Amino acid sequence: MTDTLTYNQRYYLAHKEKMKESSRQYYQHCRMAGNICPSDNLHKLQQREVEHLRKLKILAHYSNPPGIPICNNCSEQDIEVLCIDHINGGGRKQLQETKSKGSGFYRWLTRHGFPKGYQVLCANCNMRKSKYEQVVTRKKNYCENGNFVQ
Ligand SMILES: [Zn+2]
Repeated sequence: MTDTLTYNQRYYLAHKEKMKESSRQYYQHCRMAGNICPSDNLHKLQQREVEHLRKLKILAHYSNPPGIPICNNCSEQDIEVLCIDHINGGGRKQLQETKSKGSGFYRWLTRHGFPKGYQVLCANCNMRKSKYEQVVTRKKNYCENGNFVQ
């Protein structure tokens, strides 16, 4: 029976109690006490910093003029409220196709070499544009089809 076991399985059986105790201590120290393991915390901070720098780079690229992140409509410069807008719409469709939003969308833009068709808007201008486009689309559908489409 022991011949079929892998090295890791044999090692575990030989040191079972010691490994359990080590796991228990780690769990109590890092989790039960409400602490986050220092290495986990560092990793999250590094990841957050990388994502923040990626967002800055993308916002700077799509801003007009490029370089300083700024809303293309109202000149808002607060990075926390700036976002990427699909100039001709289609953001929802792209979200469904790529299944990437937030930082995933920023990674997608980077991977695809900063494709054209995007601009920087603040959250208010982006929402305003979205609402306006919905109204225009409804009016257009009503005029073309005679049906009010929601
Ligand atoms: Zn704005």
